Amino acid sequence: MFLEKDSLMNIEYYAPFNRLSIEELYKAFFHNNGPKTHFSYEDGTIQITINGQGYIEVVENQFEFKRFAYDVFSKFSGRSLPWGILTGVRPGKLVDRLRQENNNQVEIYDILTNDYMINPSKAKLIVQISDLQEPYKNNLKIKKYCLYIHIPFCPSICSYCSFTSTPIKGKESLLDPYINFLEHEIDSIIGYYNNTSIESIYIGGGTPSVLSAKQINKLMEYLHRIFPKVSEITFEAGRVDTLDREKINTIAMYSNRISLNAQTSNTETLKRIGRTHAFYDLEKSFFIAREAGIKTINSDLIGGLPGENISVFKKSLMDMDALKPENLTVHMLAVKKGAQLKSNYHYNNKDSNDYAQVAYEYVTDRGYLPYYLYRQKQILGNLENIGYSKDGHVNIYNIAMMEEVCDIIAVGAGSVSKVFDNRGRFDSFTNYRDITLYMSKFNDLLRNKKAWLSERRNLTLSDL
Ligand code: SF4
Repeated sequence: MFLEKDSLMNIEYYAPFNRLSIEELYKAFFHNNGPKTHFSYEDGTIQITINGQGYIEVVENQFEFKRFAYDVFSKFSGRSLPWGILTGVRPGKLVDRLRQENNNQVEIYDILTNDYMINPSKAKLIVQISDLQEPYKNNLKIKKYCLYIHIPFCPSICSYCSFTSTPIKGKESLLDPYINFLEHEIDSIIGYYNNTSIESIYIGGGTPSVLSAKQINKLMEYLHRIFPKVSEITFEAGRVDTLDREKINTIAMYSNRISLNAQTSNTETLKRIGRTHAFYDLEKSFFIAREAGIKTINSDLIGGLPGENISVFKKSLMDMDALKPENLTVHMLAVKKGAQLKSNYHYNNKDSNDYAQVAYEYVTDRGYLPYYLYRQKQILGNLENIGYSKDGHVNIYNIAMMEEVCDIIAVGAGSVSKVFDNRGRFDSFTNYRDITLYMSKFNDLLRNKKAWLSERRNLTLSDL
């Protein structure tokens, strides 16, 4: 009755436990080309046969099964995973749960390392981040929400990208109407949050800075009018090849945070991954943003980019240090379905653990604190992405988004809203991904989204 055959070529799965999390663990060890593995279950006993070698254990639940599978995979591969049996995106949630169950810091650390088999340095890291986030999360939980605005256009598509974005060339004429639709969408749903205060606005993408200075001004002026009291507005100008002084000055008029993303300081790598700018362009944009008085500049780096090794990555860290961004987000390369890069390209990278360690030591030595962390599927070395911040520059939106502690209303094509329902469960709503569909079926979308929100927010039309 509970038997299932797995879709992965090398797995045969006949067991009563959640097969997806076992698949994730298998992939974390072996990726998609692992050894032939057979799972079977009888009378409370699980048998894992891997390349003909059998292992048997009595297991009572999913947790015990996962630990057993971890041991078997680890023996077979000779490896351990930095995050142990955790395969989810948000390890911080486990720490929150353990805290709610009244475990103290030492007990949490012990549970993470012993029960979940997490590497001690990662366990320490996630507890540290969770402690730092605590006051922000407590504040967000008190009738707060955030707004995300999606601009799904980019100057070119980076080879590792799997986001909802499309090249802007030839589509410039869509931008004016698209902004009107965004504003209309915000106007239509804002009434659901009359008794709740907005904590943060994040304009992301894609690359929002593909908008002209005039278009940026229109959108930002609108936001300023509708949300005059919001204290945090982030504008993601991730690709400096879209920027000029006029755009940066316009962003600075309304926004106190900007993202100017490096990914690497190596010009050859930038070309290789499909980005049409050099590090020099980033330096210029930093200079203009500083002159314009933007309080917080964020920049991103990625460990494990094609053609790079650990010394090229270290050079990028040093070059970033010269620019002194207030926020630095260090990603590990994740290549998902839909990206141009070959999906398992980065699994052969032997330096993977070093990237995370080198970045952590380099950045924390310079006064940054890790303040949010998330993981992705198919990430280099099964590691994590970490947002670091200088004191006083923590991005509240990133905490809200990653820790799922308040409603996030998202507008624009392909954006995903996440809202708590009446029973305190998080539920999501995705807008049409296709830009022309988003605009042509806008009324349908709005009707569905409003019905969804009414149910979640427990409101009727007369409340609005
Ligand atoms: S800039 Fe960002 S969203 Fe655009 S293609 Fe590159 S990775 Fe994707």
